[in-house]
Amino acid sequence: MDATTTASASTQVATVKLLIGGQFVESKTAQWRNVVNPATQEVLARVPFATQDEVDAAVASAKEAFKTWRKTAIGTRARIFLKLQQLIRENMGELAAILTAEQGKTLPDAEGDVFRGLEVVEHASAIGNLQLGELANNVATGVDTYSVLQPLGVCAGITPFNFPAMIPLWMFPMAIATGNTFVLKPSEQDPMVTMRLAELALEAGIPPGVLNVVHGGEEVVNAICDHKDIKAISFVGSTKVGTHVYNRASLAGKRVQCMMGAKNHAIVMPDANKEQTLNALAGAAFGAAGQRCMAVSVAVLVGEAQQWIPDLVAKAKTLKIGAGTDKGVDVGPLVSCAAYERVTGFIDRGTGEGATLELDGRKPSVPGYEKGNFVGPTIFSGVKPGMSIYEQEIFGPVLCVVGAADIDEAIELINANPNGNGTAIFTQSGAAARKFQEDIDVGQVGINVPIPVPVPLFSFTGSRASKLGDLGPYGKQVVLFYTQTKTVTERWFDDATVSHGVNTTISLK
Ligand code: NAD
Repeated sequence: MDATTTASASTQVATVKLLIGGQFVESKTAQWRNVVNPATQEVLARVPFATQDEVDAAVASAKEAFKTWRKTAIGTRARIFLKLQQLIRENMGELAAILTAEQGKTLPDAEGDVFRGLEVVEHASAIGNLQLGELANNVATGVDTYSVLQPLGVCAGITPFNFPAMIPLWMFPMAIATGNTFVLKPSEQDPMVTMRLAELALEAGIPPGVLNVVHGGEEVVNAICDHKDIKAISFVGSTKVGTHVYNRASLAGKRVQCMMGAKNHAIVMPDANKEQTLNALAGAAFGAAGQRCMAVSVAVLVGEAQQWIPDLVAKAKTLKIGAGTDKGVDVGPLVSCAAYERVTGFIDRGTGEGATLELDGRKPSVPGYEKGNFVGPTIFSGVKPGMSIYEQEIFGPVLCVVGAADIDEAIELINANPNGNGTAIFTQSGAAARKFQEDIDVGQVGINVPIPVPVPLFSFTGSRASKLGDLGPYGKQVVLFYTQTKTVTERWFDDATVSHGVNTTISLK
């Protein structure tokens, strides 16, 4: 049965529950979708597309819970996330296994997915130091001004399939730690690990209604964008959907942040450490089957580094393709049959557009998993702007190689690309690295680091077409995203205070 087929919930397969008001409940919807293991096509569960009433109930429960949660002591909030980080550590193996089964990435990479989210939970447990206001003493005679960062109310998160643990954990811990309540809409392709995290969140002490989860696709997302009681939305996903969410939710008066699609370039200078660079490129282009928003999808080989293509191909050939559960596997399956069709379609088109197919990953042999959505590492050389494999996000294990005469030409190419999620340079020259970080118009820059995703002491800072909204997820920026700054100016009189009469000017006296 196709994963998108509408089906009733009344078969033998387990159903994914909604979380409303602290209860895991069965949806009353008539529309269901299969959650499928991409290595085997086994149906793991059925996920509901929630009804409007169910979305309304989730938001209503979050609204009610906000009345008390917003006034809950900082220490109480912090300790819940201390407990949650402990529970995630204790259940790491189980979380990774669920994630691999429904998403396909290898078990070690699935642990990495959970771990990068865990770091945000740890960060949320430091909320006491993060949500501090400011105070200026004696801004006028006897007058002090201070600011407080107050929670907004009900916030919502919409997440993509490629990091079903990390990205939900980018969102609800910081939103809730800052005093908001939350409605999460995970990807309908792999919602199971997200639900296990929600169970752990309740076990850690998140009160009923503070975290709610609804499932679905376009209709549920639109209901969230339109809902009058939702104050802010954090979205991660494709550029097309993110732009729609941003426009629709902004029009409805909400605060919105959207982290979206990418085309990440890595410049390779001829002086780079060759072995380290080839390892980094292969890992960043083909790891997670290229389904990372920060995957390197274009290698810009500068000058003599263009002669490294055969070495790059040889390196890519060392990667093992297989089911994410099997030991020693580097490249798992693509998430769905639709993703498989899209990625192989791009490879078909690339050759027609004049690029040279140096390594063809179509139809790899994966014994025991003949039905899996496997595509092996694929490398095109001679790629040029204008080709669809360069212009569009393939989101598969496909690396486009472009040549450049010097660093200026390489930087110009990257800055002309609309996307600004991530980029990297490989070089042993401090001067080249400094020029690159100074002149490149991309929000996250790696210097001999292929996937420069910041740890939560910083924020995720994709830019240009990869992002809409001013403030990024986690780090300091997200505290501002999930709070309203209120500034208080105060003066106190005692009986001895001398009156200066009526002040008809704007100045504080
Ligand atoms: P997607 O845009 O298809 O889905 C994202 C979310 O939007 C899902 O929850 C989905 O249910 C919902 N959705 C899908 N179609 C919709 C529609 N027509 N209307 C309203 N909502 C809809 O993205 P995906 O395929 O799950 O994830 C891959 C994409 O996410 C890639 O483009 C990748 O670059 C991007 N991504 C970006 C970042 C980042 O931080 N910039 C991180 C991870 C993934």
